[in-house]
Amino acid sequence: IRLEVQSSQGAYPVLVDAGARRFVPGLLQELGLAGRKIALITDEIVQRTAFTEELAGAVREVGREVFVLAFPAGDAHKSLATAVELYHGLLRRGFRRGDVILAVGGGVVGDLAGFVAATYMRGVPYVQVPTTLLAHDSAIGGKVGVNLEEGKNLVGAFYPPRAVLFDTEALCTLDARQWSNGMAEVIKHAIIADEILFEQLEANPLTGLGDPAAFVDIVARAMRVKVDVVNRDERETGLRQVLNVGHTVGHAVEQYSGYTLGHGEAVAIGLVVEAVIAARRGLLSPADAVRIAAVLERHGLPIRPPYADVEAVLRLMAVDKKHTHEGWTFALPTAIGRVEICKVQPDEVRQAYEEVREGHR
Ligand code: NAD
Ligand code: ZN
Repeated sequence: IRLEVQSSQGAYPVLVDAGARRFVPGLLQELGLAGRKIALITDEIVQRTAFTEELAGAVREVGREVFVLAFPAGDAHKSLATAVELYHGLLRRGFRRGDVILAVGGGVVGDLAGFVAATYMRGVPYVQVPTTLLAHDSAIGGKVGVNLEEGKNLVGAFYPPRAVLFDTEALCTLDARQWSNGMAEVIKHAIIADEILFEQLEANPLTGLGDPAAFVDIVARAMRVKVDVVNRDERETGLRQVLNVGHTVGHAVEQYSGYTLGHGEAVAIGLVVEAVIAARRGLLSPADAVRIAAVLERHGLPIRPPYADVEAVLRLMAVDKKHTHEGWTFALPTAIGRVEICKVQPDEVRQAYEEVREGHR
């Protein structure tokens, strides 16, 4: 399956398939990137997978020289310090402006390798090869960056890749928790714009145990939602805010947990609370709010905030940059497959949070 993303720096393809790693040589040729040095940037866990070994083997056919730079796995390493090490690694190998980076891994690798690609010698071409389900989301849209001690994703850029290549066979080594965290974003995309996808997931929850060929359609449908939104609003001025559904509450809960909750787990809780905000306003039918919680729960995700201190969670939300005196900007679901941007009063958030926490819905 092939999608296309428009960006200020030209359109780029998104390929989704079981076994898509075998298309990498052809893709690099098509992009005019064959015969260059290729730096495969990854983390040390992904480096050890058979997937990465096979991918490296495949790119050796078209690269002038192929080398791997790996850093320790985990969001704590998505830092300027790691970026500096990668710059040194590239320099040692004589990596030049025309050469190519392949970002092979989850969202951490994608964000960090993309950031290095954006900044090394004022920018080199790179290709995203996501290997987690969650990265079906992060690999599209060109947002790259690193964390600072003060917070996540505080330094970065918009820097689109030359292509995104999603091989669903990479997903077979994910554990159940990584899988359900990724499913939260798949379900989010269904809520934003794909009612049919949502119904499919209600009928047949997607576990990581099936045949990778069977994931292709679902992953591609979720990616298409993100692609369509990004194509209409690359720089997050208006429409792209719909992608934040579940994230306003979700980010605050994730921070409050000290990142013991996974991103997708926090987003799942956020989606339920935000659905209840919408239902209390009469924007979303109560039945659809129940469906949202049920489908998340069936995919192994938490649906109730485990923290009683709603005031602390609200304070974390209040420091978010998208809030003005008219209220806080939320993307709220108004139906399965539709989201609207609304101003919400803190008190509505408080009431919905408590209602969900106490299990009234
Ligand atoms: P991750 O990259 O840390 O991957 C999670 C874990 O899975 C890591 O330990 C990794 O080594 C391991 N892993 C990766 N692929 C594997 C595989 N195929 N088999 C087995 N293990 C594998 O995290 P993530 O959940 O993919 O992404 C989270 C990151 O994405 C965060 O840093 C977040 O800020 C970022 N993000 C960015 C955007 C964006 O638009 N740029 C959007 C959402 C999230
Ligand atoms: Zn997210």
